[in-house]
Amino acid sequence: MYAGAGRAGSGPVEGTRPVLYDAVLLDRDGTLIEDVPYNGDPEKVRPVPGARAALDRLRAAGLRLAVVTNQSGLARGYFGDEQMRAVHARIEELLGRFDAWLVCPHDDADGCDCRKPAPGLVHAAARELGTRASRCVLVGDIGRDVAAALAAGAAGVLVPTPVTRPEEVAAAGWLASDLPAAVDEILRRQQAVHTVPGRVGERVGTALVVRSDSAGDVLVTGPAIRAVAAGAQRVVLLCGPRGRAAADLLPGVDEILEHPLPWIDPTPAPVDPDAMRTLAARLAAIGADEAVVFTSFHQSALPLALLLRMAGIRRISAISDDYPGSLLDVRHRVPVGVPEPERALSLAAAAGHRLPGDDEPVLRLRPDALPPRPADLGDPGYVVLHPGSAASSRACPPELAARIAGSLTAAGHRVLVTGGSDERDVTARVAAAGGTDLGGRTDLPGLAAIVADAGAVVVGNTGPAHLAAAAGVPVVSLFAPTVPFGQWGPYRVPTVRLGNADAPCRDTRAASCPVPAHPCLSGIDPAEVVEALRVLAVSGGGGR
Ligand SMILES: [Zn+2]
Repeated sequence: MYAGAGRAGSGPVEGTRPVLYDAVLLDRDGTLIEDVPYNGDPEKVRPVPGARAALDRLRAAGLRLAVVTNQSGLARGYFGDEQMRAVHARIEELLGRFDAWLVCPHDDADGCDCRKPAPGLVHAAARELGTRASRCVLVGDIGRDVAAALAAGAAGVLVPTPVTRPEEVAAAGWLASDLPAAVDEILRRQQAVHTVPGRVGERVGTALVVRSDSAGDVLVTGPAIRAVAAGAQRVVLLCGPRGRAAADLLPGVDEILEHPLPWIDPTPAPVDPDAMRTLAARLAAIGADEAVVFTSFHQSALPLALLLRMAGIRRISAISDDYPGSLLDVRHRVPVGVPEPERALSLAAAAGHRLPGDDEPVLRLRPDALPPRPADLGDPGYVVLHPGSAASSRACPPELAARIAGSLTAAGHRVLVTGGSDERDVTARVAAAGGTDLGGRTDLPGLAAIVADAGAVVVGNTGPAHLAAAAGVPVVSLFAPTVPFGQWGPYRVPTVRLGNADAPCRDTRAASCPVPAHPCLSGIDPAEVVEALRVLAVSGGGGR
């Protein structure tokens, strides 16, 4: 690929490193300028409306800018280097300077690792800008752009044009109506995790943090809990029974209080007044100076806020669209579509806590909480295939998982099939088609240890996807669209999304598939999984 000369960008001010992003990567044709196929003529350069002002807002915010563009016209001989450079000079004349230019000169047939949707240009741009892909957000107009971003572990914003295919729009986790709107949302999200209203440097004694619900919910709240921990001497986490094992893995948590919350649990027991009185007493005994109540967008923090008030907790922060009266001191609001870890981080920020400069907003586990990986599994670099999910709507159909196992094995991958003790029938059936059956052999920490040494994890939208994200292990996400991918997709880790994003189960939040034959996932071709691993640079030879 071609890399333009790096230039010193106007980086962020010392000590105020942005939490989320260092750089914005921009596709060229159809994103920055009107798409003129195979254009080698500077006179035909037409910026999209509002481009210059939008880019200047990013520059003013200290973000570095790079262009990442496929130019197969070079490979096909439609224009030469000189002409392309003239076009780029014209673009800079109209839109201002970019800190780097990354061009793939190849054609699809070349099989290079830089032509989008391969992630090579994104990695190269990040390197050129002195950062990592996970600290970049890419803006593009077609599915290839977003796919390249995700495969590198970057965020990807799709700004559709009339030529963008509907399935690409459906699959995008982050959509904007035009380039200025994309820029505004990037800056808004960046700002939302920084806001520390009047509490900079103030350190509390004991902070109570709350995240009920399942293991995945607890894991994605991890960065926000670390932010609170950075500003508190002691952190107590209230979680439910289903999230307990994940809570034990989180850094920053000093103590855990486990109690089911009947207004959160999907299959709740009746409200027991004695149990509520006991909970209020246990909450009072913590002696917390403040509480930060984390929820998903469909959950209410207010019933617990009332108990916390009864327990004498003076400062309570939560996200609430419902009017909270005097139940909350910090009532935070978040637009829909924000990734769950950022949504929680923005609440922590509103409460006065932010991640320290030496931490990253990624999912993490306590290294000392993981057991050694069983020795009989061989060298690292295997592929973990996890077909199940607590919600069957988000599980991979066993028949498909078996075909995936067979195809991966045939492609030279070592496959480990994982699942809980109640999923042993499925894991046995899948592993029989190719792979080692670990069904029922792992608890959550054991599974985390196995995932940590994987070359990649093939999994639906369920807890182990977040374990992979926490270990920095690439994910092939067989994502049922019952909830938005942009909120629940694997966070800041190289990912390839597969499945029909526009299936009828979309946004239903259904726990079991409402559509016969589970069409969102059953149409996946196992060859797509093999190809996804190639894009993620996971080799069948066992290495990564
Ligand atoms: Zn290339």
